[in-house]
Amino acid sequence: EPIFRLDNVKKRYGHTEALKGVTFELAEGDFMSVFGPNGAGKSTLLKILSTLTKPSEGDIFFKGTPIKKMKDDFRKHFGVISHQPFLYENLSALENLVFYGRLYGLKDLNARADFLLKRVELLGRKHDRVRTFSRGMLQRLSIARALMHDPDIILLDEPYTGLDQHASLVLTGILKEQFSLKKTIVMVTHNLPRGYELASRIVVVKGGKFTLDQKKEDVPEKE
Ligand code: ADP
Ligand code: ADP
Repeated sequence: EPIFRLDNVKKRYGHTEALKGVTFELAEGDFMSVFGPNGAGKSTLLKILSTLTKPSEGDIFFKGTPIKKMKDDFRKHFGVISHQPFLYENLSALENLVFYGRLYGLKDLNARADFLLKRVELLGRKHDRVRTFSRGMLQRLSIARALMHDPDIILLDEPYTGLDQHASLVLTGILKEQFSLKKTIVMVTHNLPRGYELASRIVVVKGGKFTLDQKKEDVPEKE
């Protein structure tokens, strides 16, 4: 049973057709990198997968169940990482993670937060207010935040945009680790080398359609 199945999914915004009939299945444990020019419909695809937006037409199934029938709490399956960190700048790093964890009703919040702060190399700054953080630190904290509830599915929208080298290495390490843990990952990125390196499946979206969809083995090796 695939994690997601999309059947002829279309999305219109007024007269703009952002997705023009997308059909695919996403297997559990796949790492799908999504490339394509600006305006192609990549963000729209991610928003549809994360149920932030509804399709105008077509059906979406989550593990075989129509997504309309899923309860709201099925969002706990998703971790979303974008280049925009959603953090409270007057709270400390730890408080941000704890706050977010409470929304999910998690237990052992402090232990989980410490584990992740260590993972993103911010443990030494855990009591500092987020407003004192550099952009790279904010990005690392936002990665930790997205993983607090240990989601099965990780959706990333341009996560490498604006990352410094340190944050970029931390993110790559985490993505490799999550992939080895059989998490399902969909990453929209302009970073071709990273997207290619990490993926098990490569998709190109253009004009609201998939113009390429290949398993990594089938993609010609780079020189
Ligand atoms: P990408 O992520 O590939 O840059 P998007 O999914 O953001 O593409 O956008 C696809 C098309 O849909 C673009 O023409 C964009 O302007 C349009 N679009 C996206 N979101 C909205 C929205 N909320 N309202 C109107 N048009 C939108
Ligand atoms: P990103 O670069 O993070 O993909 P965008 O800058 O493309 O985001 O879009 C930011 C927000 O504006 C999104 O929610 C998107 O759906 C919306 N949006 C994008 N294009 C349009 C548009 N032409 N009209 C209205 N809203 C849009």
